[in-house]
Amino acid sequence: MAKSYVIRTYGCQMNEHDSERISGLLEADGMTRVDDEADADVVVLNTCCIRENADNKLYGALGNLKALKDQNSDLQIAVAGCLAQKDRELITERAGHVDVVFGTHNVDRALELLDHAAEHGPIVEILEATAREDAERFPSALPTRREVDHASWVTIQLGCDNTCAFCIVPSVRGPEVSRPFGDLVSEVETLAADGVSEITLLGQNVNSYGRDLALARRSDAAPDDGHWCGERWLDDRRARPLFADLIRAAGAVDGIHRVRFTSPHPKDMRTDVFEAMAETPQACEHLHFPLQSGSDAILAAMHRGYTGERYLEKLEEARTTIPGLSVTTDIIVGFPGETDEDFERTLEVAAAAEFDSAFTFIFSPRPGTEAAEMQDSFVDHAVAVERYERLRVVIERSGRAANQRRIGVIEEVTVEGPSKKDPSVLTGRTRRNTLVHFASPTPLRPGTYATVEVVEASMNHLLGELVEVTHAARHRTRIPVVAG
Ligand code: SF4
Repeated sequence: MAKSYVIRTYGCQMNEHDSERISGLLEADGMTRVDDEADADVVVLNTCCIRENADNKLYGALGNLKALKDQNSDLQIAVAGCLAQKDRELITERAGHVDVVFGTHNVDRALELLDHAAEHGPIVEILEATAREDAERFPSALPTRREVDHASWVTIQLGCDNTCAFCIVPSVRGPEVSRPFGDLVSEVETLAADGVSEITLLGQNVNSYGRDLALARRSDAAPDDGHWCGERWLDDRRARPLFADLIRAAGAVDGIHRVRFTSPHPKDMRTDVFEAMAETPQACEHLHFPLQSGSDAILAAMHRGYTGERYLEKLEEARTTIPGLSVTTDIIVGFPGETDEDFERTLEVAAAAEFDSAFTFIFSPRPGTEAAEMQDSFVDHAVAVERYERLRVVIERSGRAANQRRIGVIEEVTVEGPSKKDPSVLTGRTRRNTLVHFASPTPLRPGTYATVEVVEASMNHLLGELVEVTHAARHRTRIPVVAG
């Protein structure tokens, strides 16, 4: 009988993409996706370890699965992702009913490990980034089950070389390694041929993409240097990031209508990236630009490598170079040692930045990070909550104003499907990454492009009136294949 599986994904886009890969592997082996763990033969929990309650979420879910496993001893439970990479054998020690634990550097081994566990019992396989050839670590060759047919993530680099004091990513995802330029362009071509019209270039620090490749290739000319670093680099062969070149190359692929990316780091942001965004018609006018704090003292303690003033200068340059740019950000309040003056500075910079929206967090210490050791200067939680509320007011004010300014504008949207709140209308996404709800006299498939006139604006979305359909969706409708 064809087996069935459930995959639960916690955390960031990198994990979502890894889950698409794991699903692709299981489905290539004939398994079918089900929604309920009670109907599954295999359950995969793809974990995150960024937030404090990440552990609670995992062990809570494993607790619920224990009851199912007691009823069905053939049920296989696998734990993957960053918390698996960090906690390793601790997971099977705390939850003996787990069959497989694998990390962030061996996603491609998911199926083999499940087969191994079915025959030989539970297995924990955690590899270090350096333990494998880079190409092996890039699961790009793996089958993928995309969550959205018309849009796809493209992982451009793994790991991160930065040392932000609050962040666990470098220790669970390893050092920064960029994928060869040519591999990325051919992956985008393959996706476009498969009907994908929107891609998101994905990495922990995308704007340093290719620095390692150019550094390794700058001296001796090798025939495939163009494959590794892109044709544009051959002219100057400097040891520079290649991200601007990649935006241009991805946008030039036939069939690609929109190019997005996440996440850049302000300290590495260069003018050539803004120019590439402005000069590449497919590059969307949205920049997610994590500020984290406005205080220079806190930014230094976080090892972010820029000041509040420098951040605003970069933002000014981006907005001058890319007309109509939408800017979102991440901000942490209550970082250890944050004084009232520090926080006032964060409010000042956030107000001056006029963000379209922001992910705001109260600092939570993650075991294994430098900041987790700063207990002596932890900020009182009540104070942090009060600061969080004051920041939310500043962010909502600029977000509402930004959406108000879109009233009367004709926006190009990608149809994403029926509105979750009101299925009688459609939801679309603008190039500035804002949701628009609008009515359509005829059904429109996800992935269809249309123009909509904005008639109303609220904090998180816009309301619009359909003007015209501009591009039909190109992807084939996925007909679930029932294996066996
Ligand atoms: S840039 Fe900083 S916050 Fe982002 S993944 Fe790297 S270490 Fe973490």
